[in-house]
Amino acid sequence: MLIAATPLLLEGSGFSYAIILVMLKRLEIAGFKSFAKKTVLDFSSSVTSVVGPNGSGKSNVAEAFRFALGEQSMKSMRGKRSEDLIWSGSNMAPRANRAAVVIVFDNTRRIFPKLDFEEVSIERAVFRDGASEYAINGSKVRLRDVQELLASANIGETGHHIISQGEADRILTAAPRERRAMLEDALGLKVFEFRKQEAERKLEKTEENVAQVEALRREIAPHIRFLAKQVERLERAEELAKELRAVSQTYFAIEEAYIRIEKEKTEALSRDVKERLAVIESELAVFEERVTTDSEGMKRSEAVRKAERELDRVTAERSVLARELGRIEGALAGAKQRSIAVARDPYVKIPRDDLATLQQEIDRQVMALDDAAPGAVLAALQSLRTVMKVFFERFALPNDDYLAEEEQLVHDLEHKRNEMLVSDGVLEEQVEQARSALARAREATMAHEETGREQNRRLLDLAESKAKEESENSRLMAKLGELDYLAEELEMGRREAVALVGVNALSFEPLSVLPNEDRRAQEDRKRSMERLKIRVEEAGGSGDDVRSEFKEATDREAFLAKELEDLATSSASLRELISDLDSELQKSFAEGLAAVNASFGEFFGLMFGGGGARLILEEASAPGSDEDDEDYEEESVSRSKKNQKPGIEIAVNLPKKRVQALMQLSGGERALTSIALIFAMSQVNPPPFLILDETDAALDEANSRRYGDMIESLSKRSQLIVITHNRETMSRAGILYGVTMGADGISKLLSVKFEEAVTVAK
Ligand code: ATP
Repeated sequence: MLIAATPLLLEGSGFSYAIILVMLKRLEIAGFKSFAKKTVLDFSSSVTSVVGPNGSGKSNVAEAFRFALGEQSMKSMRGKRSEDLIWSGSNMAPRANRAAVVIVFDNTRRIFPKLDFEEVSIERAVFRDGASEYAINGSKVRLRDVQELLASANIGETGHHIISQGEADRILTAAPRERRAMLEDALGLKVFEFRKQEAERKLEKTEENVAQVEALRREIAPHIRFLAKQVERLERAEELAKELRAVSQTYFAIEEAYIRIEKEKTEALSRDVKERLAVIESELAVFEERVTTDSEGMKRSEAVRKAERELDRVTAERSVLARELGRIEGALAGAKQRSIAVARDPYVKIPRDDLATLQQEIDRQVMALDDAAPGAVLAALQSLRTVMKVFFERFALPNDDYLAEEEQLVHDLEHKRNEMLVSDGVLEEQVEQARSALARAREATMAHEETGREQNRRLLDLAESKAKEESENSRLMAKLGELDYLAEELEMGRREAVALVGVNALSFEPLSVLPNEDRRAQEDRKRSMERLKIRVEEAGGSGDDVRSEFKEATDREAFLAKELEDLATSSASLRELISDLDSELQKSFAEGLAAVNASFGEFFGLMFGGGGARLILEEASAPGSDEDDEDYEEESVSRSKKNQKPGIEIAVNLPKKRVQALMQLSGGERALTSIALIFAMSQVNPPPFLILDETDAALDEANSRRYGDMIESLSKRSQLIVITHNRETMSRAGILYGVTMGADGISKLLSVKFEEAVTVAK
């Protein structure tokens, strides 16, 4: 059942409602305390009075407001647990499981500037398990959202706009700092305070982030330094490679031309030798022809031809051997040079397998640490691992037993050469034998023919020339063999260079003429190529790994630096915002204080018919000078911040009396003073509504009238809900609600006329 009392606008109450200010529209109570059933209070007047006998549930209405606005103190709602707020049932009606209160505001004037709605409802419900739920316009929200929304409309947390029964002088008994909080709240400074807190929270978070990012940067710095050195080394290696490329190009160009030109030259010489040999042969043939006339002669000349063929055969064989020997000699010289170069290498060489084992062991150990070790130690170990890896790369042998291989090659070549030298010796012998056999055969022929001495002489000359040409031919063959070797060596060198420094090593223009230089210049080039090759090999290795790791690390570093920069910027702007809010707060507070003081003095004078009162800022407070113990339980940080703000003292000056200490005021005087102050605060920054629960209880007739006057004057800026037994106060209301409680213990609401109200109230 819904109890909705239709408000009666009272006529003849002596108060004219020229402008009816409606910001508070409605209060809906269900299951809250004695309001077991849904009850709706409509506030379509500037002043609404709630009347009724003791214990009927009037104060529960004020508490319903507190509750819906997010009050957290059970004490100020006269309960111990949230369960106490829920209708506990009676012999006639079962208990409720949920207490809910909705306050509906008129937002046509956008008292809640952030909400673009004509009406704003704030709802809170509490359940028997203690859970609270909040909703704004029906959407669930957090308490903080409610608080921020209310602060934006000047409805603060300190409840300065809801004055509970017997609490009128709370502002007088409050500690200076608490008083300041109430004043700040009344002045609407909570919004700034919220924003400041928010900014401070963000600043704290930002500074935490700064510390984190700085720690990260410190952590990766040594790794980056190490990688930078590696990259530098790689760059040096690249320089070396460039140098090697340049030397190689020159060397190959010259070497290629040298081999080609020398070969052509040698082959031309060889052709000449062959031509000359052919001439000698043909002349020798003529001699032989002449002696084949008889059968004896034929037999003899057959012996000569046989001897000649034998000589030709062994000579040819020897010439082939000479070319091969030339090639072997060249190869041997090259191999010797290389093995000397390897032996002279200043580095210690360690077999690759041993290094791999060690590397694996280090990896294994570092991996095992991954979870256990603190960040810095782990980073150090990881960087150490990379150091070792690169270090190992440099000292690993290019081949397990490179040196031994070279030495073996020298040995093999020497062996081969020696074998060939033996064969050559044998062939030389055979050539000599063939030559003397031929000489003998010819002599026999000559003797038989009885040719003249002169012819004999000529024959010997021819044989000698032939031997000379043949030896020249052998020399040329050896030379060609050596050139063959050089060509092979060149091909190998080209392959090696391409593997080391890329195909560019071969990009050179072929030379048609050799430079005017000693052959030793090429040897020097070759030596420097060998040296460069070794250095390039050493410097190379895991180049791409290091580079990509370096890039990753520097990218990360740059990212962190940028992050720090951003954080510094946002930290600076947060500081600026905080300081702006601080000065805004200070300024608004100073202005507000001055305005409240002006009003306070005026209301006080009005209430007491003279005298004065004002709020004074405490002397810069030393911690401990304050009697407010509760604050000391807060965090030391916020305390030190709060300590910077002086609290507020109240100075009064009663007319015709010399009493100045608050303690010495009578109950009525205290009520008057606090009413003056509450009204002054409301005047400066009017809240949408003000609830006064029997604030007028201690007033005599004359003061009740003054109180009524002030209520009327306040109602021009704020809506007033006055719970009262005071006839004078009732007479100022536009709407009167009577609250009664029947035998069922349930509070009931009814609209009453002024004349009825006085009766209802009893
Ligand atoms: P007074 O004029 O004496 O100040 P009042 O009209 O302000 O009285 P309230 O204090 O608002 O009266 O109401 C108190 C009544 O509410 C008591 O009768 C009390 O039993 C009742 N009440 C409080 N909490 C509950 C609850 N949880 N369930 C049922 N009734 C409750």
